[in-house]
Amino acid sequence: MKLNQAICQNAKPKDTPSFSLVIHGGAWSSFEILRASPETYVNNLKLLLEGARQMLSNGASALDVVEYCVRQEEDDPLHNAGRGSIPKKIDFYQMDAAIMEGATLSCGAVAGVQNVKNPISLARLVMEKTNHVLLVDQGAMDFARTQNVDIMPDTYFDILFLKDNQEKHGTVGAVVRDMHGNLAAGTSTGGVFGQIPGRVGDTPLIGAGTYANNQTCAISCTGVGEDFIRATLSHRVSMLMEIAHMPLQDSMENSMAYLRDRTNGSGGMIGVDRAGKVCSAAHDTSMLHGWIEQGGRAEVSWEPSVSV
Ligand code: ASP
Repeated sequence: MKLNQAICQNAKPKDTPSFSLVIHGGAWSSFEILRASPETYVNNLKLLLEGARQMLSNGASALDVVEYCVRQEEDDPLHNAGRGSIPKKIDFYQMDAAIMEGATLSCGAVAGVQNVKNPISLARLVMEKTNHVLLVDQGAMDFARTQNVDIMPDTYFDILFLKDNQEKHGTVGAVVRDMHGNLAAGTSTGGVFGQIPGRVGDTPLIGAGTYANNQTCAISCTGVGEDFIRATLSHRVSMLMEIAHMPLQDSMENSMAYLRDRTNGSGGMIGVDRAGKVCSAAHDTSMLHGWIEQGGRAEVSWEPSVSV
């Protein structure tokens, strides 16, 4: 059987005029949940899901909804992205983000940016307004100024949780399948606590922390970025679907096991396939996430559907 035939038999997006999405608030997020209140997290995610539902049922594109969801999460200081990005040392923080759409494999990313209110939107501008995929550091910030994106003072990024200098988690991401059968993924982070300035994790690296391909799936990862890079993990999920014809859940389970066994890495991922099936997978960790599958109920949990 030819590869494309196999994929087409697995899923027929045109026959399924519904939408699906999954959003996450990072691996190990139960730590922050306990420090704030579980209700706050759950309510914020549910509101976000309902906002996304409205957009998707009105025909919005997967790309617009990914950007919308990640922007909202970046503006919420409970997360480690955008406003709530963790400082690497006192008054120093850097942010990374990537966005990708599955129809054309177009993608954009930024790394090591500061003062940009919504790195995910800057990543989208890299995708749409340049011939490049990834801009970093000063070059990315100079580009931001040419695009009139919101630049905020350092005080905007004041963090709420680190007064006692404890570790904070809460990378954010979204994967969407829209009514037209298109997929998109986006991820945004303030990195990992204590990282060396200039360190870049998996989030802005296409195929590591973020990936979307209409023939297979859209994936957003969270966890120790170095290991996700070593395992090119989000692309691995897509390749298992494309080459080995595995369903989404098996591909994610296999990939999380590979991450653990080959790199000793840990974390989690969310995914949606071209038919709108959703999945979340993680090991050794909770992962705050919410989802709507094929237009159904909005659900929120910090237990992944697949524990590896
Ligand atoms: N993956 C992110 C990074 O390594 C961190 C996280 O997801 O918690 O930058």
